[in-house]
Amino acid sequence: MSKLNEVIPKANHILKKFYLCDYCLGRFFSKNIKSSSYRILGKKIKQEVKLPAQKCYICKNLFENLSQYVDLMLESSYHHDFSTFVVGVKIKPSLIDCDDFVRSKFKLQGVDSIKTGITREISKSFAKKTKKEIDFLNPDITFTLNFKEKFCQIRSKQVSIQGRYNKLKRGFSQKKKSCENCLGKGCRKCNFHGFYEHESVEAKISNFLLSRFGGTVAKFTWIGGEDKSSLVLGLGRPFFVRIQNPIKRKSKFSKNIKLDSLKIKNCKIINEVPKKPLPFISTIKMNINSENKVESESLKQLKILLKKPVVIYENNGKRSEKKILNSHFKKNSKKRFTLVIDVEGGFPIKRFVKGDNVVPGISQTIGTKCTCDEFDFLEVKIITNN
Ligand SMILES: [Zn+2]
Ligand SMILES: [Zn+2]
Repeated sequence: MSKLNEVIPKANHILKKFYLCDYCLGRFFSKNIKSSSYRILGKKIKQEVKLPAQKCYICKNLFENLSQYVDLMLESSYHHDFSTFVVGVKIKPSLIDCDDFVRSKFKLQGVDSIKTGITREISKSFAKKTKKEIDFLNPDITFTLNFKEKFCQIRSKQVSIQGRYNKLKRGFSQKKKSCENCLGKGCRKCNFHGFYEHESVEAKISNFLLSRFGGTVAKFTWIGGEDKSSLVLGLGRPFFVRIQNPIKRKSKFSKNIKLDSLKIKNCKIINEVPKKPLPFISTIKMNINSENKVESESLKQLKILLKKPVVIYENNGKRSEKKILNSHFKKNSKKRFTLVIDVEGGFPIKRFVKGDNVVPGISQTIGTKCTCDEFDFLEVKIITNN
């Protein structure tokens, strides 16, 4: 650290060539002399130098007019929930050139650049006005101020949510399907949504959450999937959602939320959606039709066989195994029976019934061609390690 009078000759030298505002002058000596702000330091130095005021060679007095940009930030974040923020600025290249020029000419090393300086001043002032905190690493809101076009862009950190759902009616799919006409871009045919099916589980949950939190898109992570004709019962299927660019960051959820034939339960905000896929076990009830009469004896045989792992072969030569932890069946008529299994997640149900590269398959085991036209999820349990 130096004393004030030690930097006066250099400051004098600079100011005679290039007149600087208090901020820019203070910025250049803030590494030498301790001060609470650029402006106060610059002012102190100038009192010693005594030169008539002019326009700042570097910032063209931009530092003195930052309050309008703070207002712009206040305006654009008016509706947002947030407690932390960070600011980025885009300034005219000509200002940066002048700054570089003066810094190199007077060998001012290790001092804050004009960009750093403006970011610092504007963040300080916004924090003071709003009582929000600056957070460089993980802010709720990121402001990007464009000084050239006097424009403030705002981005907010995503909000992550977990919950479960019950599907109480058949006939709508789990995931949204892109519009076939525009492939998701949005067109007249899909009413510019990019999707055809507004009835899907995904559409219903995302419409609900976006109406609560604002934001642009809801991105889903599913714990398994079901058919259009399936029901999802019991405690429901778990799901995770990331809401991008939300306006609200908090919401109170009632335990059960009914959206027509969909029920969302136990919704809560979480820190982060799990990065790795979570292992789970599904209890699935299958209604199976057979071409010929089914003997009770062969169903008993099936139950014994299902105690061994089921091997699944894919077309690409991959082979995987899934364990059935429990199974029971009920004969409904000569050619119809119901099979309920507890099985590891990601099990290909229809292929298992058909016996399509799944061993043992039901058709082969009971010796007659079988099909599954409907299967329901009675329970979906995430396996936790503890
Ligand atoms: Zn200046
Ligand atoms: Zn379309």
